[in-house]
Amino acid sequence: MLIAGWRAFELKRISINDECCPICKHNVEITITLNFRLYYFFFIPFIPDSRYVVALCSHCNEELSEADLGPRYRHLLKTKNHKEKAPLRSWTGFILLVTLLAAYYTYLHL
Ligand SMILES: [Zn+2]
Repeated sequence: MLIAGWRAFELKRISINDECCPICKHNVEITITLNFRLYYFFFIPFIPDSRYVVALCSHCNEELSEADLGPRYRHLLKTKNHKEKAPLRSWTGFILLVTLLAAYYTYLHL
């Protein structure tokens, strides 16, 4: 972990059991995860970035695309179909920076 950078966090996990994987052709569990990317600065979470969805086969561990999944589950690969948002604590650095700037201009800059 560096001083500044980004990490990915999981927001939601959906498991689909006994679905045929189009890559390995086995009946397996397919795991769909909704993730978000978080930028941090000096180990403080600063601001959340984009959300994205990943579907993985539990047998071959390959990432499945929208065309690989059956029509019943394709909607789960679109981020707009998930209502989960990044937690408030992921804005800690941004809120701290705004608070410090507000305090500076209110009390010290007069
Ligand atoms: Zn597979």
